[in-house]
Amino acid sequence: MKPAIIAKLKSELTPLFSNREIQTLTSLILEHVAGFSYTEIFAKDDFCFSNEQLTAIDQIIARLKAKEPIQYILGETDFLKLRFWVDERALIPRPETEELVSWIIESNEKERPYILDIGTGCGCIAITLGQKIKGSRVSAFDIALEALHLAHKNAEANNVFINFYHINILKQATWDETFDIIVSNPPYVRHSEKAAMDATVLDYEPAIALFVSDDDPLLFYRHIGLFAQKHLNENGQLFFEINQAFGKETVKLLKSQGFKTVELRKDLSGHDRFVKASK
Ligand code: GLN
Repeated sequence: MKPAIIAKLKSELTPLFSNREIQTLTSLILEHVAGFSYTEIFAKDDFCFSNEQLTAIDQIIARLKAKEPIQYILGETDFLKLRFWVDERALIPRPETEELVSWIIESNEKERPYILDIGTGCGCIAITLGQKIKGSRVSAFDIALEALHLAHKNAEANNVFINFYHINILKQATWDETFDIIVSNPPYVRHSEKAAMDATVLDYEPAIALFVSDDDPLLFYRHIGLFAQKHLNENGQLFFEINQAFGKETVKLLKSQGFKTVELRKDLSGHDRFVKASK
């Protein structure tokens, strides 16, 4: 039997979301609130939601109507099959970033690489690499102390040890260690791109993690590139997620900084999205 709540979710969410999105949201919400998957709930003829569960679902619907991202409402999301706590202290992990992390894992040739993630946010890149690359050691920087607290909680929840540092990379030109892999998904959206963005992002996600000045869109890439020139070991690799509008410019910048091989890669949507550079 189809629980009435499924029809209710559909009718309440229809003006805001596509059918496909509603299906995904319904599964996430039911799993979160009742602990059962969509199919399990259908299979149990006598499945009955408690009043508390129904109230919880009503509250979720109200927050979705206020355009809050589902990941913040539920407080969690998955990234390459690992579970992360998420809230307004850090960006919600994006599918493109999963592609970046998979590329790093495939590219790694070192037995026990020392990895640095610059601008770690909720920690998804650092923690996933730490968990999936055997023997790796991982450090992570962020300018936002509150993001580091969230990332620390995520590292503990995923049983990975990460050295976290409260660092503004724009002011940090030197470091007393060198690394085999440096990775960053820094702020890369220009303020002028705001007009095309959704309220779900603009009203809830931290602007400090997203935006960069229109006058200097490669600011972070320039600083991190210079930092990596000094702090990458021989055969070390630098990985970036980038703004799709600046593929060629980012490659040119890194070459001018002295990186020998610079590879530009597209994401699954066909946009220039990632760069790998070696000294
Ligand atoms: N990809 C993110 C977005 O589209 C931006 C991530 C970033 O600025 N590093 O909102």
